[in-house]
Amino acid sequence: MMGDRFELVIVGGGTAGWMCAAACAAKLAPARFRVRLIESEEIGTVGVGEATLPQMKDFNDFLGLDEVEFMKATQASFKLGIEFVNWGREGDRYIHPFGTFGRPIGEADFFSYWIRANRAGTAAPLFDYCFPIVAALQNRFMLPVGDGNDVRSAFAYAYHLDAFLYARYLRGWAEARGIERIEGRIVDVEQHSESGDIAAVKLASGTRVGGDMFVDCSGFRSLLLGGTLGVDLEDWSPWLPCDSAQAVPSARSADFTPYTRSTRRTAGWQWRIPLQHRTGNGYVYSSADISDDEAAATLLANLDGEALADPRVLRFKAGKREKAWAKNCVGMGLAGGFLEPLESTSIYLVQMAIMHMLTLMPDERAIDPALPAGFNRVMDVEYDRIRDFLILHYIANAPDAPLWERVTTGDIPDTLAGKIERFRHRGYIEAYRDGLFGPPSWQAVFVGQGIEPRAADRLADVLPAATVDERLANLAATIADAAATLPLHADFIARYCPAPAP
Ligand SMILES: Cc1cc2nc3c(=O)[nH]c(=O)nc-3n(C[C@H](O)[C@H](O)[C@H](O)COP(=O)(O)OP(=O)(O)OC[C@H]3O[C@@H](n4cnc5c(N)ncnc54)[C@H](O)[C@@H]3O)c2cc1C
Repeated sequence: MMGDRFELVIVGGGTAGWMCAAACAAKLAPARFRVRLIESEEIGTVGVGEATLPQMKDFNDFLGLDEVEFMKATQASFKLGIEFVNWGREGDRYIHPFGTFGRPIGEADFFSYWIRANRAGTAAPLFDYCFPIVAALQNRFMLPVGDGNDVRSAFAYAYHLDAFLYARYLRGWAEARGIERIEGRIVDVEQHSESGDIAAVKLASGTRVGGDMFVDCSGFRSLLLGGTLGVDLEDWSPWLPCDSAQAVPSARSADFTPYTRSTRRTAGWQWRIPLQHRTGNGYVYSSADISDDEAAATLLANLDGEALADPRVLRFKAGKREKAWAKNCVGMGLAGGFLEPLESTSIYLVQMAIMHMLTLMPDERAIDPALPAGFNRVMDVEYDRIRDFLILHYIANAPDAPLWERVTTGDIPDTLAGKIERFRHRGYIEAYRDGLFGPPSWQAVFVGQGIEPRAADRLADVLPAATVDERLANLAATIADAAATLPLHADFIARYCPAPAP
């Protein structure tokens, strides 16, 4: 180690860099670790990224952040799921919730009983049996109750937030706990001649910053991992062909939804994310299918409030670096890979990378290869699972435009093909320990986009049909009654965490 402390250098101060710095400040003892973060105001950050997953609350709790203070600082609102509009077929809509459909009945899950009743024509739509969906569609929100027998306990929530403000908030938090910030543009990288490990980065000012280990949070540039170490991006664009986005904020609208909206369009899809001070919007599209000008016009024509800026164009390619940890460098955030924000997974992937890095952080200067190997395996699982889930959204659609014709007839990964076939067979979805998404998420998207099992699971044969129907009807009524007692999302926010006007 340099001096007597392990020197960790984080390159980049976007959401990824400051999340990593904050976690290091929380968990790495300053007596043993010196942590520095380099960022360049001249280069700036990507500055989009507003919808998250419930795991973000775990990250904030891990740091010990106060939820109310954090929400005020980031203009945050609550998120119960994502509404998909026109996915499947034009005019369809469904919500992928952060919650479950009913509860297991004996050996079978609720979903299997629903399939049975649905095939018999006696069930309501699946989405009526999920509390957060019913509440979300009425624009209502409350925190989950503690009593596990109450339907109002059967959900999790995430946040819509301003990712720029989140990074700024974490910066203050991390700096107050000893993280050193260095302003400057990196112009050169020095490697150890024998090992090829990164020894130091050099700034335009001439300053040299050396370290034992480097975290590459430099965004799409992937300065160290891709640039210096030459770790290629596995290209997933044949499956996920969108390569561009335009983002634009608009004035907050009256419809203050506790959910993100994703609307399928001719050449991609449009997001709508309500924050306290404004609404975030964007069109993610395939540049082979629409020009930037047309995409901008479509986006601006479909805002529900006045545009507050001109649309900003971003380019990307779907994929992940072949190794997220190579030599003494760990890449995270956009430097490690990019999957389009259809299921709000990027910040989650940063969080997972940070957690696994902290667990596998070497205690010695020499890095045992078992540590990066374990990290890369688990990050591969995380990326692969999300990739398959996103591709499912793409392939289950009417082929009503060239992009949708291509993706609905193209190849898909074998892992996804197997999953679809098992679901079609009898609604089977495996639950796994590592990675997103759980069975309710897959059930929502399968059913929401028109893929249904050919038969119900045999394990759901136990109860008589009349009993099944009665249980389903009771659950839907309980959920409807409970949802109606909740405050409106806007009122809840105004009481719980009103943010000052920016
Ligand atoms: C269109 C779009 C929509 C998105 N929506 C969501 C969403 O809804 N939910 C979600 O979870 N995620 C979303 N994301 C992803 C999210 O924006 C990013 O994952 C997140 O912001 C992390 O970015 P980052 O920190 O890796 O990179 P950046 O924000 O690009 O930060 C890179 C940092 O590196 C520094 N840097 C780069 N080069 C140098 C250099 N030479 N010298 C010094 N410093 C340097 C920069 O100054 C900056 O501080 C979206 C992304 C895109 C493109």
